Amino acid sequence: MTAAELPLSTVAEAYGAVCVGLSGQVVQVQVHLSNGLPGMTIVGLPDTSINESRDRVRAAVVTSGFAWPTGRITVGLSPAFEHKRGSGLDFAVAMGVLARVGDVTDRHIDRAVFLGELGLDGSVRDVPGAVATALGVARAGHATRIFAAPRTAEQIARVPGIRVVPVASLREAVQVVRGAVPEPAPPPVPDPIPDGEFGELSDVQGQPFACWALEVAAAGGHHLLLSGSPGSGKTMLAQRLPGLLPPLTDDQVLEVAAIRDASDGAGGVSRVPPFCAPHHTASHVAMVGGAVGAYSRPGQVSLAHHGVLFLDEAPEFSRMTLECLRQPLEDGTISIARAAVSERLPARFQLVLAGNPCPCGDTAHCQCTSVEIRRYRARLSRPLLDRIDLRIGLHPPRGARPADPTRTVRERVRRARERSASRHEVTGGRLNARIPPQVLRGALAPTADGVALLERVSGEARWSRRGTDRVLRVAWTVADLAGVDRPGTDEVQRAIALRAPGQSP
Ligand SMILES: [Zn+2]
Repeated sequence: MTAAELPLSTVAEAYGAVCVGLSGQVVQVQVHLSNGLPGMTIVGLPDTSINESRDRVRAAVVTSGFAWPTGRITVGLSPAFEHKRGSGLDFAVAMGVLARVGDVTDRHIDRAVFLGELGLDGSVRDVPGAVATALGVARAGHATRIFAAPRTAEQIARVPGIRVVPVASLREAVQVVRGAVPEPAPPPVPDPIPDGEFGELSDVQGQPFACWALEVAAAGGHHLLLSGSPGSGKTMLAQRLPGLLPPLTDDQVLEVAAIRDASDGAGGVSRVPPFCAPHHTASHVAMVGGAVGAYSRPGQVSLAHHGVLFLDEAPEFSRMTLECLRQPLEDGTISIARAAVSERLPARFQLVLAGNPCPCGDTAHCQCTSVEIRRYRARLSRPLLDRIDLRIGLHPPRGARPADPTRTVRERVRRARERSASRHEVTGGRLNARIPPQVLRGALAPTADGVALLERVSGEARWSRRGTDRVLRVAWTVADLAGVDRPGTDEVQRAIALRAPGQSP
């Protein structure tokens, strides 16, 4: 059938998908053919890369051995909103055109999403952000199959509720949907690496108090500040925190995979929560994320999602970067600005800050003035420090007694979290670190003795209300680890010891 014989009134449809921030969005591609000057217009507020796709789609269709319709082609993308960009819609546009001229039928491509850029030779190519895109497609519930290039197919194989069909070329895709060749088997779902990389806690020697603080941090989800001179083992401790946390759930594994894929296209993920330790010279964009070409690239705060963000020499980070941590600490997201729009990426991490006690860090021969020390410590602002429940001073190791093995501590952490989860009716399922103040002072107040002790100590030391709330949160975690139903004087006392107010850098 030539284009001239085609009924002009009908519109063909195919489906593609794009990634907005880190959310996938199904895009409907409508193809209309009319008499008039040959050419192709794409409407639906596409950006320049979609306009370039006109030429790629045409070349790919022709080199794949299909006839290009001679009339005027109008392609409508919907929803017609401003975020559509990138080349990942080529494949869907081409399938729409082929559906319009009858090379494939509606039935062939029903409930399928075509994801990929097209090469001029008709090859289907990988697109960035495929995992997040596929997750969005699966959640939308529209499609049952995603056609994608083989490598992309491997990356998205883990997404539940959707069948992945790896195809290397447009021609192969057409043959598959027509049933001329059998559908290629979906790639195997990669298992998350069971243990992943994390340091063994029992490698740490002579630091029982610091290891205890780490255990409390893991059990209650508390942010942690480690203050100590170089060589006191801050990095070694921080690296061991992910191994103490509960393994990632299937959903979390996927979210982490989506972020990594959008960041550098890396696939494999572990069940061990991520650990990110950017250097203080890292750029602001590297830390919080930003736009790279048509895509949003997650920064370290997002790569640490569901894991640990460790800032060694925290006072050396730029003020702007440190202040940007406040939003993720508050609501678990980071906003990144791109041209005209702002996108939110996930960024719920556990923060570990480390710093020296003074600018020179040499406690034995320190000659820093009190003004210099005060200025150094003031680089960590009050609003930031207000979110750090645990602050401990580190000393050089005393003795060689090893800490308990990671496996043992992780089990204690698991039991403590179970206890805290059993209070979900009052906490709304939050970890202890995120219990609201009114609950800490109401339904979850410590025993009368515990309250009296805390009032006395906080009164003498003139703690702020927030400072007292932090101790209350930690006291609950201490109680959960000890298997105690409600914090009393012991737990409050131990929580106070984890506050070490004079030690913060
Ligand atoms: Zn000094």
